[in-house]
Amino acid sequence: MKKLYLIKINRKVLIVILMIILHLIAYMILYNVNTIRCSIQNTSGKLAIIIDDFGQTREGVEEMMTIDEHLTFAVMPFMEFTKEDAIKAKDLGYEVIIHLPMEAKGGSLSWLGPRPILCNMKKNEVRKVVEDAVADVPYAIGANIHMGSKACCQEEIMESIFEVVKEKRLYYFVDSRTSNKTVAKKKADEMGVLCYDNNVFLDGQKPKSHMIKRLRKAGDLALKKGQAIAIGHVGIEGGVAMAEAIEEMREEFAERRIELVFVSELDDDVY
Ligand SMILES: [Zn+2]
Repeated sequence: MKKLYLIKINRKVLIVILMIILHLIAYMILYNVNTIRCSIQNTSGKLAIIIDDFGQTREGVEEMMTIDEHLTFAVMPFMEFTKEDAIKAKDLGYEVIIHLPMEAKGGSLSWLGPRPILCNMKKNEVRKVVEDAVADVPYAIGANIHMGSKACCQEEIMESIFEVVKEKRLYYFVDSRTSNKTVAKKKADEMGVLCYDNNVFLDGQKPKSHMIKRLRKAGDLALKKGQAIAIGHVGIEGGVAMAEAIEEMREEFAERRIELVFVSELDDDVY
């Protein structure tokens, strides 16, 4: 009898132990699934790289147009290669925007091309430049700023630009933030124009190692904020080295779950 009783107890204990083990296993599986799900959500980020200054210089144009990623190309209006670059970019699947030349605090006026937006222009003159720029850059769905450290601080100038952006139904504007006194985003918000801020300049006539570091920084920001915008250039500012730097960083971006996207693929409500 005593022996049987012991066996009975052992069976009961065994069942309890088994139940505990089963519960633990179930808990561990659920916990891991949730952890994996959370880590996927927390560590992925969208990075929109804009490449400025298409339409004029040839340095790096070909190399940029062979990168198999979602890149946004900003094409200067009224230049020798404006149409050629915009059409080719669109054909190859890149996003095209207008690179609006605007007056800077320093530098030469000649860097702005034949029809820049200047601070002493009247409203109608500014509007006419923007209207003609929209007509001159085929397939453009948005716009950003070429130079412009002076003009982007003038409310009237930005207002005239955004009027046309709205009328022509451009999808978005990117403030390149060449001045920390810029009023572009503030004015755009007031007028109901979708406007993103540039977060990181990638090149600036620096060596490729610098561009790699800046790309990594842009990727860090994308992971931290969920999305980020970075700007590089064809021509003397970046050119071939900039294209090579992006190509070399593709693997690292993929490993770190940083997705390269068009500006139009960013969320609207984060900025
Ligand atoms: Zn530019």
